[in-house]
Amino acid sequence: MNVIRRENPTFPDRIVGEVYETSVADVDAIVQRSDEAFRVWSRLSLDQRCQALAAAADLVTPELYDEIAALMCAEVGKPLPDSRGEAMYSVSLLRFNIDQAAKVLATHVIDDAAGKLVRTRVPFGVVLAITPWNAPIVLSMLKVAPALVAGNSIIVKPSPQAPLAVTKLLEAIASGLPNGLLQVVHGGPEAGDAFVTHPLVRKIAFTGGDVVARHIGVSAARMITPTVMELGGNDAAIFLEDAVLDEAALDRIALATFMMGGQVCMASKRIYVHRSRYDEFVAGFVAACEHSVIVGDPMMEGVTVGPVVSRAAQERLERLVADSITAGGQVIDVGTITDEAVVAGGYFVRPRVVLNLPDDAQLVCEEQFGPLVPIQAYDDIEEVIARANATELGLAGSVWSADEDRAFEVAQRIESGYVFINTHNRTGMTPRAPFGGVKKSGFGREYGDEGLLDYTQNVSIHAAAAYRPGGSGGSANAYPGTS
Ligand code: NAD
Repeated sequence: MNVIRRENPTFPDRIVGEVYETSVADVDAIVQRSDEAFRVWSRLSLDQRCQALAAAADLVTPELYDEIAALMCAEVGKPLPDSRGEAMYSVSLLRFNIDQAAKVLATHVIDDAAGKLVRTRVPFGVVLAITPWNAPIVLSMLKVAPALVAGNSIIVKPSPQAPLAVTKLLEAIASGLPNGLLQVVHGGPEAGDAFVTHPLVRKIAFTGGDVVARHIGVSAARMITPTVMELGGNDAAIFLEDAVLDEAALDRIALATFMMGGQVCMASKRIYVHRSRYDEFVAGFVAACEHSVIVGDPMMEGVTVGPVVSRAAQERLERLVADSITAGGQVIDVGTITDEAVVAGGYFVRPRVVLNLPDDAQLVCEEQFGPLVPIQAYDDIEEVIARANATELGLAGSVWSADEDRAFEVAQRIESGYVFINTHNRTGMTPRAPFGGVKKSGFGREYGDEGLLDYTQNVSIHAAAAYRPGGSGGSANAYPGTS
């Protein structure tokens, strides 16, 4: 059996742990087991399922959260409090889905002169979740929670770059559920392909990059398997002339940009500031980074930014800096380094801002997924909206203004699935708001009612009035509503 070993990106000579790679030969048995579990689970009432899931959520104890947080911190370099926060938030999302289920999945009945129509939501069957490494637990739970509440079974394949913490958490929850209902498997493209093309997989929920998304999308289309695609973004944060630039706001945008080393799908990835406030913004942003972007060993108290995920990511980001200099940008180091020796030895990238880049520079037009950000000046609102929308990506964005109504007006013209007002990234999320991309950032939604509905299909049962007992009858080939 092949083993996947995960190195620690802070101390690359240390192995954090390992998991067994799922063999392609085992894929069929795993999916069959999932399908058997689905058949039993989906026959339970919604209330029975919710009770079982609530009890399973309680199996994640405070001690387990500590263990999971330490694992995630070591395997992806996410600071310890953020890692613990992600695990706890994830379980709260399971509880959120349980709480919403009765309302969102309710059966609707119309019984009137036109006939009787019953509309129900039914599960798909076996769901396959394929998730990335940057928020391994929450991005898995956003699929696990609604899928199970709605009556599906689920197989989760996390990234080989972050397999450990998510496995620990999901296995704890799975231990309280029927056998085979929630399974975690491991592997890269080979195992992934075998799951994606299995005929009993009825729905695929993918979060990751566009290259893998296109590959999975083609295979899924051949199988006529529906997908949810949560892909990358190139979020614009737009500061209007009247934006409040106090310390709290600047701290928010600094961390929205650099938390998790900028490796967040909805991080602020391009900052646009009205020219009249540009110098003030740059000075304030650099000052905010000095006390809020603290780079070092993510296990150490006070550190807010750890390493990037791999040597390859580190090298790609340094090439991006070199390209930005060639393109004429002015590069400024930001943040505070706590321990030069640790930073020199791990996969760290110095957080940097780049000023005055042309709009066709790589750092402006592509998702950087790292701690580098362009800060661009603009003169006119029409101009900045056009520049913000001049991308194939449309995940999120933000508008900052002292005038909330004005901010909402501008927000409605941003081509993104989610627009934050006066904040950006994690702080602007709410479980009640559906999240997902427009354009090439994907389709389908997570969170909110839609995030649960996406794991169900509508079934309509209809008795047309004419053919109900005592009905008027009618011609045997009539179109509805005609006699
Ligand atoms: P990735 O696309 O490289 O990998 C994602 C997952 O796909 C991993 O589990 C990987 O093992 C798996 N995979 C690779 N080849 C496969 C195949 N042939 N069949 C099946 N599975 C396969 O992405 P990544 O590097 O892990 O994550 C970074 C990307 O994810 C960024 O673009 C980021 O913006 C995006 N992202 C999006 C969201 C969102 O909610 N929209 C959230 C987080 C990250």
